[in-house]
Order: sequence, then C-alpha cells, then structure tokens
Amino acid sequence: MSVNERTYIMIKPDGVQRNLVGKIIARFEERGYKLIALKLVHATPEHLEKHYEDLKGKGFFPGLIKYMASGPVVAMVWQGLDAVKTGRVMLGATNPLASPIGSIRGDYALSVGRNICHGSDSVESAEKEIALWFPEGIVQWTSELEPWVLE
Ligand code: ADP
Repeated sequence: MSVNERTYIMIKPDGVQRNLVGKIIARFEERGYKLIALKLVHATPEHLEKHYEDLKGKGFFPGLIKYMASGPVVAMVWQGLDAVKTGRVMLGATNPLASPIGSIRGDYALSVGRNICHGSDSVESAEKEIALWFPEGIVQWTSELEPWVLE
C-alpha cells in the first residue's frame, strides 16, 4: 500500500446526465485524495471494448458498451494512500442495491446497468486503465494540503 497509489475513476454517462459530477469529485477531494488527471470524453465503442476487454464473453457486454458509449464520461486519476481499494469502497458494490448507504452507488443508484461510476479493481488494472485513458500522461503538482492529510 503506497501513499502515492493511483486509481482510475470514471463517472459513467448516467452520472454525467444526472449532474452528479461535482458531488462525486467532491467525495474524493474531501477524503484527501489528489486529482492528477481529469477530462470529459465521449468514448468510442472500440475504446470501451479495450477498457472492458476482460468482460468480453459476458451476456451484458454489448449492452454495457452501448451504455458507456451513449454519452460523455468523466475520466479521472486520483492519487493517495490505498487509493485503489478505498476508491472501490467509496464507489460501493457493482450492484447498487448491495451497496452501503454512504457509498456513491448506495446513495445515488439502483441498477447494476446504471451504476454511475467505475473504479480500478487492482493496482495493475489501474496502471493499464490510466495508460488507456491518459496516453498523454498525468499532471505532476505539489499539494500544499498533503501534510494535513498524511502523517
Ligand atoms: P465493477 O464496475 O464494479 O468493477 P465489473 O467489472 O464486474 O464491476 O463490471 C463492469 C460493469 O459492467 C459494471 O460496473 C456494470 O456497469 C456492468 N455490469 C456488471 N454486471 C452486470 C450485469 N449483470 N448486468 C448489467 N451490467 C452489468
């Protein structure tokens, strides 16, 4: 577990359409994570198939790609202590109905096919996803708040 761990977090088209972008960003900021990349992008099906390549055989795969390509997403990289695992806890379970109140999906979503957000499930997949969504690289900057967040 590293203090500089990075995770790829994405607000899906339903999160953008439902004006939840600010609320979701605020949760990561307020928790103490550092934003090191951010963009609004209307991804192509081909790009999304790469992102979800591990799920290619699943019955819901075509619907998932259609949903994800239906509008813009907010692609982000957040950095900080245990960002991958804690990021997933902040998102909630894949099925919003199984997500605790207080998590993003538990507070804002009902359906697994409209679950608002994505978060990397391991450090390795985070690295892969960051390279896929941010081939231009991330932004290096010094956070003056860091000593107040991390001992
Ligand atoms: P997670 O996004 O929590 O890592 P998965 O990698 O298993 O979950 O699935 C990727 C995405 O595919 C989910 O977030 C959800 O949008 C969609 N999905 C997963 N399972 C189903 C399903 N049974 N029906 C419809 N969509 C699904």
